[in-house]
Amino acid sequence: MGKVLIIGCGGVASVAIHKCCQNSDVFEEIMIASRTKSKCDALKEKLTPITKTKIQTAKVDADNTEELIELINSFKPDVVLNLALPYQDLTIMDACLETKTHYVDTANYEPLDEAKFEYSWQWAYRDKFKQAGICALLGSGFDPGVTGVFSAYAQKHYFDEINYIDILDANAGDHGYPFATNFNPEINIREVTANGSYWENGHWVETEPMEIKRVYNFPQIGDKDMYLLHHEELESLALNIKGIKRIRFFMTFGQSYITHLKCLENVGMTSIEPIEFNGQQIVPLQFLKAVLPDPSTLGPRTKGKTNIGCIFKGLKDGKERTYYVYNVCDHEECYREVESQAISYTTGVPAMIGAMLIMNGTWTKPGVYNIEEFDPDPFMDALNKWGLPWVEDFNPTMVE
Ligand code: NDP
Repeated sequence: MGKVLIIGCGGVASVAIHKCCQNSDVFEEIMIASRTKSKCDALKEKLTPITKTKIQTAKVDADNTEELIELINSFKPDVVLNLALPYQDLTIMDACLETKTHYVDTANYEPLDEAKFEYSWQWAYRDKFKQAGICALLGSGFDPGVTGVFSAYAQKHYFDEINYIDILDANAGDHGYPFATNFNPEINIREVTANGSYWENGHWVETEPMEIKRVYNFPQIGDKDMYLLHHEELESLALNIKGIKRIRFFMTFGQSYITHLKCLENVGMTSIEPIEFNGQQIVPLQFLKAVLPDPSTLGPRTKGKTNIGCIFKGLKDGKERTYYVYNVCDHEECYREVESQAISYTTGVPAMIGAMLIMNGTWTKPGVYNIEEFDPDPFMDALNKWGLPWVEDFNPTMVE
């Protein structure tokens, strides 16, 4: 059917690329382009014997719009799937505009020198994308991504209005290290050391980092400590889901992770302020990333499951109703299938599905959209088909 240009070749991209190669009728050709071309070539070598998808590779600096435009013009993809880092979102969107190519990503823009993520930068492209006749699908991972699709599905099929959403992200995986992050350490640590916040009655309520803790008994996982974080889909769901009074996001962390993180924070290792070291400027958090285990090496060591989903409370035909929809993913099964752990898997599969729905025209409309603004049904079907089946519970335990 078409061609996709995938930018980045890290943990998430590797899963999305495996999945595109399992779906060769849709993804006839892919170009993998990243900063380190040898990683793209290694994946091409591994996958070429087992897929009908034709794979090419290139080196690209995605901070450089001109380089991206040149690459897009030479490969002529139908869609660009951005699986580099949030810092590259705007340069890649600029290149898509210039070449009139559809755009998909999994994380909203974040400036390198400021730990702040919000949609305003990308929403500012709405008119330009509309005028160019191209579509940008924002946040097609799991959270954001599937959580937005779950919300649109709940709204479409089960509620007249949704008043409360709690997004619960549990990882009961054990990689055997005292401290490691499951995806890019720099992005992960920036996220969890920031202040928490939730949306209530039309405004943001800010909390200290990890200030709000709850214990929840997760299906197939059991009791876990979870902490309230700010998360990017809160911003778009608060606008796009009818009747919202409160929306919160919780993520589980074990005691060892919290203790290590506190210690690293206390000694200044999570700072993004550059410091002078041996005659050169270094950013402590970037140095920490360099000494921590590479998330892509965690796959073979990680055992256990993830459970990510949303609990809704609202009204249907004048009556109060609750609904929980979630996916459970097993780290070892993911590794057997695509040689990655479940965190990359649960992000890479929805990234492939988003690119597919844009490429085959199911979701394409000119402009810049968050995932919950599209019809959720084709995405929900694709989740079942491509490895992330979901479970429904109409009488869930609610979070206090
Ligand atoms: P990795 O660090 O494993 O991979 C990032 C990739 O981007 C690497 O291949 C890296 O190249 C490449 N890259 C970085 N900078 C550039 C650049 N300037 N030009 C070209 N390539 C570049 O990260 P992950 O795979 O863990 O995460 C990828 C994205 O997925 C992130 O944006 C993350 O926030 C998002 N994410 C979203 C989730 C969701 O559920 N929505 C969950 C988890 C992650 P190199 O190898 O040279 O460093």
